[in-house]
Amino acid sequence: MKKLLIIGAGSAGSVVIQKCCRLSSVFSEIHVASRTLEKSNELKSTKKCAIHIHRCDADDTEALITLMSSISPYCVINMALPYQDLSIMEACLSVGAHYVDTANYEPRDKAEFCYKWQWDYHERFKEKGLMALLGCGFDPGVTNIFCAYAQKELFDQIHTIDIIDCNAGDHGHPFATNFNPEINIREITQDGKYWKNGQWVTTKALSEEQSIYFPEVGHKDAYLMYHEEIESLAKHIKGVQQIRFWMTFSQEYLTYLNVLQNVGMTRIDPIQYNGQEIIPLQFLKEVLPNPSDLGEGYTGKTCIGCVIHGEKNGKTLTKMIYNVCEHQQAYKDCDAQAVGYTTGVPAMIGAKLLCEGTWMESGVINVEQCDPTPFLEDLKKYGLPWKVIDYEHRII
Ligand code: NDP
Repeated sequence: MKKLLIIGAGSAGSVVIQKCCRLSSVFSEIHVASRTLEKSNELKSTKKCAIHIHRCDADDTEALITLMSSISPYCVINMALPYQDLSIMEACLSVGAHYVDTANYEPRDKAEFCYKWQWDYHERFKEKGLMALLGCGFDPGVTNIFCAYAQKELFDQIHTIDIIDCNAGDHGHPFATNFNPEINIREITQDGKYWKNGQWVTTKALSEEQSIYFPEVGHKDAYLMYHEEIESLAKHIKGVQQIRFWMTFSQEYLTYLNVLQNVGMTRIDPIQYNGQEIIPLQFLKEVLPNPSDLGEGYTGKTCIGCVIHGEKNGKTLTKMIYNVCEHQQAYKDCDAQAVGYTTGVPAMIGAKLLCEGTWMESGVINVEQCDPTPFLEDLKKYGLPWKVIDYEHRII
């Protein structure tokens, strides 16, 4: 039985908290720390979550060390924002706690997604016998584990991977993002990038598009984007020649995004407003719907998976491994929408496997470096069933 500290209680964090609270055989004591207390208090009162609540600014390493020293957590799940990854990793090293997250570090002043900053901690975690488990959400996370499973069970050699992500749901708002708006819009508006024959190929943001078939959803327009799992999969899937990431967007969503970009609302550099410095994208976040509040009337489903082409026993084949998640099922289980839910459930499972000792290796480890089998068994058990099919559609 292990003590757990969860940092962040937002859209995805609230799912992690609720799911972990149902696993008292693994987590003996659950602490939640966040910048403000409202969301944690609400979970404690309305969902009867047995949690100890703390206020902490996770940008402040010293404050984190003080808090963690008073709790002595075995494991810390970082469900705050990517900006806090390094301060939380530092604090974990200082107090001797294992670490789990769902998104790689980004500096605030530049939308640059790269594992280097976190991989640089490998030797320090290794020396202390601690594990830092990186990217344990859905994408990155489950998608990486689908690739590890394909490498272990389905293929002798993987040639190409297309990670395809579709949200075919309707939240009823003209424009809203499904996870933290600031992080989401930074991700979508950066240039596209994919891995081909050992090199990065860069494309203009959302300039490459095609209609892609999603099981249980149908054909949807999908856009090539950079996503961080490409970087770690290129390192860990042996001999892979190409890895791309595609996400669907409606024309209406793209029109809103274009307007917001054109008027300067997605800028991440500071501007002066009424004698005060503000960042337009952070202001925009405050006026957009909160992703945690989208669940109630959200209809439809997400379909996220990996289309993998390669060879087995001398034959070429294309398989798709995927999950379909209904927004209403996520709401019924955790008052969440499917994007928060598909992020939170894998983070809980990663921490569970780490605390049970099933996944335990010192150093900084991406999820696809661990054995996919126990994780995929738990994924079915805790609300995210997955399937493997022969994929008979073309991705150009
Ligand atoms: P939210 O904005 O809904 O929640 C973020 C939480 O972090 C809030 O509780 C917030 O507290 C807290 N927080 C923010 N800054 C600090 C700080 N300095 N100190 C302490 N707490 C802080 O975000 P999401 O739940 O949508 O996203 C959480 C993480 O999940 C992000 O890193 C995101 O990139 C990642 N993600 C990963 C996905 C995947 O599949 N791998 C998919 C979707 C998201 P407060 O409300 O008090 O400010």
